[in-house]
Amino acid sequence: MTKHTPPSLQHWPYHWYGFWVAETFEANGTFNVERYRDPQWQCENKEAIIAYLKNCPGMACQQNSKKCSRCDEMVSYSTYMTDNVWCWPATLAHNVEHHYFVLPDNFIAHIAENNYTPPEKLTLPMDKWPWPDSDNNT
Ligand SMILES: [Zn+2]
Repeated sequence: MTKHTPPSLQHWPYHWYGFWVAETFEANGTFNVERYRDPQWQCENKEAIIAYLKNCPGMACQQNSKKCSRCDEMVSYSTYMTDNVWCWPATLAHNVEHHYFVLPDNFIAHIAENNYTPPEKLTLPMDKWPWPDSDNNT
């Protein structure tokens, strides 16, 4: 299904992804974000996955738009999204679409199980989102 997925993303143990600070912590400082980017990476229905990442109903927003660190586009920092099961920063869709970021296999499988259709409603209170370092990941 996917090609060139880094081993750590073939068995990603969390329901959050794309925070980078949290990934760094989990890897005891050995995390290198460049290993999570790959121009050769392919997955089925990538456009639908990107649309899903952009259109989920749950959003915790601080409205801090600033220029992407890799291109000139304005992106929302400090904005986080959920589909009631997974949690990710709003910048993740942009990074997957424009900067070759790779997604964990089980995140892709989860989105496929939802038929690439975001849930209509946010049903998870913000304190129950699967934030990094929360107890909801088990
Ligand atoms: Zn960019």
